[in-house]
Amino acid sequence: PLVLGIETSCDETGVGVVQGHTLLADALASSVEQHARFGGVVPEVASRAHLEAIVPTMDRALAEAGVTLADVDAIAVTSGPGLAGALLVGVAAAKGYAVAAEKPVYGVNHLAAHVAVDTLEHGPLPEPAIALLVSGGHSSLLLVDDLAHGVTPLGATIDDAAGEAFDKVARLLGLPFPGGPYIDREARAGDRAAIAFPRGLTAAKDQAAHRYDFSFSGLKTAVARWVESRQRAGEVVPVADVAASFQEAVCDVLVGKALDACRSSGIQTLVIGGGVAANSRLRAMAEQRAATYDVQVRTPRPTLCTDNGAMVAALGSHLVAAGVAPSSLDLPADSAMPLTTVSVTGEERT
Ligand code: ATP
Ligand code: MG
Ligand code: FE
Repeated sequence: PLVLGIETSCDETGVGVVQGHTLLADALASSVEQHARFGGVVPEVASRAHLEAIVPTMDRALAEAGVTLADVDAIAVTSGPGLAGALLVGVAAAKGYAVAAEKPVYGVNHLAAHVAVDTLEHGPLPEPAIALLVSGGHSSLLLVDDLAHGVTPLGATIDDAAGEAFDKVARLLGLPFPGGPYIDREARAGDRAAIAFPRGLTAAKDQAAHRYDFSFSGLKTAVARWVESRQRAGEVVPVADVAASFQEAVCDVLVGKALDACRSSGIQTLVIGGGVAANSRLRAMAEQRAATYDVQVRTPRPTLCTDNGAMVAALGSHLVAAGVAPSSLDLPADSAMPLTTVSVTGEERT
């Protein structure tokens, strides 16, 4: 099916067009520069930027794909989770376009879309698969046995998301927002064994209750203490070494737990999605360690890992192909949409 996807859950206005598993267009307008000086996304600023960008981005995506709205089979839109006001702009736009062009509309889960986007890179996802979802607001391990109808959470962060940890550590190292890409870059020149930072929830005592859970706030505090002690002693902070050692600690835990889930379930496909999946060390480490267990790692190209419209279109296309019913026109912007709800009319897994 030819599906158009609209994403406005945070600070990127994204419109993508896909045909089946083929990416035809991925137009993006970001308000990230307007938030940078605040050190985080300002919701009102994001909403206004979406409002200004949505129509031009829509037009750009259709032109890039060489199609008109009349050609598409369905419109998919991020219904949640995300910033309420930001989501509203995308949902309202999708409804408007759907009514005007008489197309079905699918309200989809942003997090499931972070997983589905890989199909644009590697084709249909073999099911069951294990998914490691690591983004700015979420960090979860999922069992994906039927992406069109539901995912089963195996574990999640008990405090900060992985991307949040990257952003906070970047901030205390004096790097710009959002910090993930800057830590990635700094770390290339650093020694990842320079400092032994803690690996959260990997102790033997955590195996029973938190085998597939993550914790990054202790790591962030450890980095802060280490940096402060250097500064107090009047020493120069070796930014590259701190970045590399911090990144190594995060990746070590993420990859270790994801492969543990694969091994214990006998599942040989690991898909990694979300903004942190763009991290070069995470990708390399996952590839390397997975080979030992005969697990195939699927990671979309970095530009598809961070928020975009193509991921929403990819999930929409999967739902249409699976025969899932579209949403009704009163579909909500649901800022707290649970991970288990893949689309607004999709059956919820219990
Ligand atoms: P969510 O998907 O949970 O709603 P979000 O949509 O804001 O959150 P994403 O766009 O999926 O988040 O990811 C953004 C996060 O990814 C930021 O925290 C950013 O620092 C991080 N990130 C992006 N690129 C990299 C990288 N190369 N290395 C590490 N982190 C990265
Ligand atoms: Mg963003
Ligand atoms: Fe996201």
